[in-house]
Amino acid sequence: MTTEIRDYRLDGIYRQRQEGYFMQRVKLPAGVISAQQARGVATIARDFGQGGIHLTTRGSMEIHWLREADLPAVKRELAKVGLTSRGACGGAVRGITCASQGSQGFPALETMARRLQRHFTGNPRFERLPKKFKIGIEADVAEGRHLIQDVGLVLARLEGGHARYDVWVAGGLGREPRPAFLLAEGVDERRIIPLVEAIVTVYAAHVPAGKRLKYLAGEVGEEELRRRIEAQPCAMEELPPVGGLPDNLLPPMDDRKRLEARLFAGLLSSSELRMLADFADSRAGGALMVTPDQNLAFLPANGIDGAAAGRELEEAGFNRVSLPGPTVFRVCPGNHECLAGLAPTRDVARAVMDSLGPEGAKLTWAVSGCPNSCTQPQLADVGIVTSRLVTTEGGQKEPRFDLYRRTKAGLGQKSGEMLTLEELLETVRRLG
Ligand code: SF4
Repeated sequence: MTTEIRDYRLDGIYRQRQEGYFMQRVKLPAGVISAQQARGVATIARDFGQGGIHLTTRGSMEIHWLREADLPAVKRELAKVGLTSRGACGGAVRGITCASQGSQGFPALETMARRLQRHFTGNPRFERLPKKFKIGIEADVAEGRHLIQDVGLVLARLEGGHARYDVWVAGGLGREPRPAFLLAEGVDERRIIPLVEAIVTVYAAHVPAGKRLKYLAGEVGEEELRRRIEAQPCAMEELPPVGGLPDNLLPPMDDRKRLEARLFAGLLSSSELRMLADFADSRAGGALMVTPDQNLAFLPANGIDGAAAGRELEEAGFNRVSLPGPTVFRVCPGNHECLAGLAPTRDVARAVMDSLGPEGAKLTWAVSGCPNSCTQPQLADVGIVTSRLVTTEGGQKEPRFDLYRRTKAGLGQKSGEMLTLEELLETVRRLG
């Protein structure tokens, strides 16, 4: 008798490397989650997983070590706190990311991210796509994150109470990185959802299974891709203005400084997440932000002394990256849990941190366990990608690493390849 192997990806579930275990990813629009929802995630991790939570570079939360029989209950528990995992994996519009969580324009970005998520999540028209479809929304182009999305929205200006966005398309990393190109400038927010629909429709109609939109840009060229998108009836449609109140959980920013609980590799326990949710309730208006650097951020509520609240976080131990270490050190699960992982990324990250000198510690870093590049290594000052496994003379499998350096705008360029761990660490030490 054969056991049926079910595909749970559209429910945001991947099989883990360890037989019989699953990972549940939860989509958070612009990385924002309420304190109550965070407690819900913490409870699921405690009751159904092994008590740990992983924060991703796309502002999602992941719970590992789930059993198949518990997956329906996990879905119900998420729904009880208004969270969804639909489309967090597989061929769907993934979680809408945002790296501009401290910016003045963030409430408008969060509102747009929530509307996009609501529109595309669980909508059969936009599921079973050839592969994942990634949308990011940013206040500016400073960090280059708009370049790695299928659709990157960059706030151009606020005009007559409406936000206008520059729309970038067909970017992506992976084995063949390609920066997005500018499709349209200053698009009124009322046109964004129909325009993204047009782009997803072209993607679904013209791209073979397993390929991203960037593949089509490479095959037919940017101008032809633009022509196909603009030929869609909804490409120029303008929806009626949205009535009612905005959808953001975070209030408008002023001169309050964002606080951050810094974690190693985006890892925290369910009791720590619960503690940080309580901190958010008492100090930060009940909202938490998963940052693209795998930390948790907070906006101190009115009347809260931000400096004192920041010290509370430090005293509670939420500054896990070795000091005086880099402030940004993104690390994916690698072969600790991920089926695609080729290297023990957390061990590699620790070894790299231990080899850093003062100059290296000023840089931003990212370590990916395979060429899928989930930590966005081409957007860090130094990106480390596990490129393959080689068999040594002794018959053991050993990872090899490619190195990327980003010294100007755009994507980082490969500066070393097929390095052994020792060669990688020697390169790190040479940075000073
Ligand atoms: S980069 Fe590779 S190993 Fe790391 S999480 Fe992504 S798919 Fe898994």
